[in-house]
Amino acid sequence: MQIVHQFIDGELCPGRSDKQIVVTDPATNAPIANIPLSSHQDLDDAISAAKSAQRLWKKVAISERARLMLRYQHLLKEHHEQIAQVLAKETGKILEDAKGDVWRGIEVVEHAANIASMMMGETAENVAPNIDTYSIVQPLGVCLGITPFNFPAMIPLWMFPLAIACGNGFVLKPSEQDPLTPMLLADLFKQAGAPDGILNVVHGDATQVNYLLEHPDIKAVSFVGSVAVGQHIYRTATHQMKRAQCFAGAKNHSVVMPDANKQQAINQLVGASVGAAGQRCMAISVAVFVGESQQWIPELVDKLAAVKPGVWDDETAGFGPLISTNAKQRVLRLIEIGKREGAQVLLDGSEVSVPNFENGNWVGPTVFSDVKPDMEIYKQEIFGPVLCCVGVDSFDEALALVNANPYGNGTSIFTSSGHIAKRYQSEVEVGQVGINLPIPVPLPFFSFTGWKNSFYGDLHAYGKQAVRFYTETKTITARWFEDEGNNDDASENEAKSSPNMTINLR
Ligand code: NAD
Repeated sequence: MQIVHQFIDGELCPGRSDKQIVVTDPATNAPIANIPLSSHQDLDDAISAAKSAQRLWKKVAISERARLMLRYQHLLKEHHEQIAQVLAKETGKILEDAKGDVWRGIEVVEHAANIASMMMGETAENVAPNIDTYSIVQPLGVCLGITPFNFPAMIPLWMFPLAIACGNGFVLKPSEQDPLTPMLLADLFKQAGAPDGILNVVHGDATQVNYLLEHPDIKAVSFVGSVAVGQHIYRTATHQMKRAQCFAGAKNHSVVMPDANKQQAINQLVGASVGAAGQRCMAISVAVFVGESQQWIPELVDKLAAVKPGVWDDETAGFGPLISTNAKQRVLRLIEIGKREGAQVLLDGSEVSVPNFENGNWVGPTVFSDVKPDMEIYKQEIFGPVLCCVGVDSFDEALALVNANPYGNGTSIFTSSGHIAKRYQSEVEVGQVGINLPIPVPLPFFSFTGWKNSFYGDLHAYGKQAVRFYTETKTITARWFEDEGNNDDASENEAKSSPNMTINLR
């Protein structure tokens, strides 16, 4: 069986702890790889390699750092199909979805190639006579990334290319459920010419993450994953006085107004609720039907019933299996809870299976109606192909429902009213809003954070502003030459705001 190595100081080496994790194929549950987890010594080695490499890397010309990203982008594009296949096999995603996962990551690398313009400081001339003030933007040191299973290409690529382009060293701890894709990304980064040690990949679970979080040489922590772990990581990292940004879970609502284009709304809800088996942080898991649009629910159910799960290279499949047997058991348990709570089951995917792959983690599209906010299926992020339908009488009721939800990752509205769309855009308390489309994936030249329980940390998060997360700004005030006969120190000089000239500002 394939052994998943660590990537430390430019070399592949097996983890030296006494624990191993088996990576399984979600469509069969057959083992596909074995990960020897990192020991404390391995983690120390990874951090120390990143620290040594960073001391030199931060001095490398910024245009050369940008050029590494250009070479990396080129290699990723060249290997797009190969990465997508590895990703599809270990996550269970269908190939088209897997390609999208990789492509979104490539876009971040493209963005990182613009690093020179993103790291520019500011200048003010003559803050006092002969004194200028300017700021420079500098890297932090060694940054840590902890990533989830559901986007094993895109999410690591949200983090290390930007952090490294800024001049940092990086340690990545990818999800232990699908580490093959991140390892391929690291290999291509080396091939692109990345210096040894600047990116390191280690493996593990809570034990390794907690050790890394406590390490004094880790300066900033980027995390993407579930709410409970996100809260733990945010608390631990900030308790250690580290900078932290934690993207967490979601319960994304889509509001369907009666004046919406019916076919457009229904078609988009199908893909947004069961695509990637509902294992997207941007999946729509609650559809809020306003007034007469509630009559469209049976048609939506028919369309969802026609979407079939299948293995990654089955071109007729709409989505694949869930990542693990545990994930499947959790989703089935929540479906049972929903039934007991009194929600109407309009479509039940609990018994769905795929011929020749009966051992896979299959759950078919499932739809509940009459869902109430106090039900578990409404309160919990199910992370499966399950759509909860809620009926309300008015737009205001829909808006109040969405805003009362403790999550705020993404939302969308379908309507032909510009007024309603504008009000939703302005008044909804959610980080990403789709209008007449399901929630779009964030683009790196914008910034993005979830709101409320979907994000913990400061706002220097994904995309454009991530450069601010991975850097510090230093402000310098300089007197470039001495005035003749003037030996005042800078502070006194600053007090004189102008040369000998009469200025009347009133
Ligand atoms: P997870 O929280 O179980 O794991 C994420 C990472 O944390 C993994 O690397 C894992 O090894 C590590 N981890 C797990 N338990 C830990 C613990 N107790 N202490 C320290 N580290 C621990 O998440 P997942 O199941 O891999 O991913 C799915 C979740 O990620 C969903 O909740 C989804 O909404 C969320 N997600 C959010 C976004 C976003 O942008 N907000 C994007 C993708 C996924």
